[in-house]
Amino acid sequence: MRGMAAVPSYVVMQPTTLCNLDCAYCYLPFRATDRRMPVAVAEAVAASVNPWAASARFSVVWHGGEPLAAGREQLAALMVPFGPEVEHHVQTNATLIDDAWCEFFVAHRMRVSVSVDGPRERNGDRVTRSGRPAYDRIVRGVAALRRHDLPFSALAVVNDPAPGRATELYDYCLDLGCEVLGVNIEETEGVNTRTNAHDPAVVTGFWAELVAAWRRQPRIHLREVEWSLRYAAAVLDGNADDLLPRHLDPIPTVAYDGSVVVLSPELAGFTDPRYGDFSSGNVLTTPLHAILADAAERTTWVGEFLTGVEACRSSCPYFGFCGGGHAANRYFELGRFDGTETEHCRNSKIRLLEGVLEHARNHQSPGA
Ligand code: SF4
Repeated sequence: MRGMAAVPSYVVMQPTTLCNLDCAYCYLPFRATDRRMPVAVAEAVAASVNPWAASARFSVVWHGGEPLAAGREQLAALMVPFGPEVEHHVQTNATLIDDAWCEFFVAHRMRVSVSVDGPRERNGDRVTRSGRPAYDRIVRGVAALRRHDLPFSALAVVNDPAPGRATELYDYCLDLGCEVLGVNIEETEGVNTRTNAHDPAVVTGFWAELVAAWRRQPRIHLREVEWSLRYAAAVLDGNADDLLPRHLDPIPTVAYDGSVVVLSPELAGFTDPRYGDFSSGNVLTTPLHAILADAAERTTWVGEFLTGVEACRSSCPYFGFCGGGHAANRYFELGRFDGTETEHCRNSKIRLLEGVLEHARNHQSPGA
């Protein structure tokens, strides 16, 4: 894998900067203000995306702020320019989901991923703008999805990977009824400056415990564990080098105003004296495909980041699994893009793989 691809596999769109919640770990800087994406931005993005979607699977991920805070009318208007081949996904805090939203998801064939951190007592960081717990509203939204038989994914942030937490989270998600679970150990990024440093053995134990819980009842696609098992199988088959894509997916995030930040949605909305606003262009003045064609050359920080990826390649034994991604984590943890190891990659790559291996070692059949 070298450099950045010119064509992404998905694009992240910000229909509004507003979020109706005020979670303690949120990285978004403008979540209290409702800056809405005009339809002209969606039209400009669709002009590049529609030809890509005609030749390969392609997704638009509506992200925020809280994307449902834009309202059904606004979201529908933003979706109109996209062709029928484009898959639409939404990442939501679920608190606004009701029957009308479920009908909207069906009508627009929209796939839903909800953010929920496990049982009530693990959602203490998730509060409304007035500081009240959001958990009951999250659960009401999920209940609406289930009433309408809508499949959904869950995304959980774990801020304390203590023993017992992985089993608790997995069992909770079995009851919740999600099809897919993604797990993020809390990250220090954006306006969230809380530390994400943990005892290595505890984090490894968390992932090992999650694998054990999943193996007892493998009814949910467990995103991180499936990645790890695919990598372990490829190593055993001797083709691990073929697993990483040939080029990094640029993952363009299109902010409400049309500005494009590649590789890390978490950088959108920030500025730095060295790197400016991190954007590589604006779709209202330059087509998205043209922005991506030379983003690495025209964007100072992207070139620096690709240097960091090469440093990972030559120094890190986990590169074949990780690919050296995570630009925002480098910036927010190390203050630069050409460094290598971060707490995030220790928590969510290195110890993830170690945890899966620990589980395998602990469950070898006798004599194996
Ligand atoms: S685990 Fe960290 S240091 Fe290793 S390749 Fe990934 S980002 Fe780089």
